[in-house]
Amino acid sequence: MTVDASAWRAAVLDHLMTAGGPACRHAAHYIRAHDVQIRFARQSTGARWTLRGDIELNEPAFCLQSNPTDPRLLGLVVHEATHLEQGIGLALSVAGEVRGWQAEFAARAELNAPIPAIHWRTIAQLPDPPTDADLRLARAGMLRMAGYRYLIWLLPLRPNWWTRLAERLGARLFRGRRRA
Ligand SMILES: [Zn+2]
Repeated sequence: MTVDASAWRAAVLDHLMTAGGPACRHAAHYIRAHDVQIRFARQSTGARWTLRGDIELNEPAFCLQSNPTDPRLLGLVVHEATHLEQGIGLALSVAGEVRGWQAEFAARAELNAPIPAIHWRTIAQLPDPPTDADLRLARAGMLRMAGYRYLIWLLPLRPNWWTRLAERLGARLFRGRRRA
């Protein structure tokens, strides 16, 4: 059976709107308002955001035959939508990553498929705003769960001159190219 990519994306967004709570609906609104595309690509993570402003889910773990109501898939979409909304400067920091994990954690709870891992609970319950010590603790927890292939150990705790430079360059590179 072939599934139309735009129909599949619409089903994902409909389910976020109808089955989810505030975190799911917020992500769905953002994806619709910014015409974020959901694609599939080989990668070492479950999902990622791109400079072009798209979300790429892990292939072959996910494909157009995947159930668009799968809470794990929906949680990943909410996580990556959070990063796109943040912008590159914040997304390329531990502080941004913490917010991504928190949004995914909230989305999964809303979808009645809560994430049980104890380290996640630690990250989900960090004070807002987190201190540097909180962010280091969160980063250690993420590394314990995801392993050292997860490149968070490269990221600064908070946005700095480097991530702001990346944001300016990224914006220049992809301005007006969204539909290319
Ligand atoms: Zn993330």
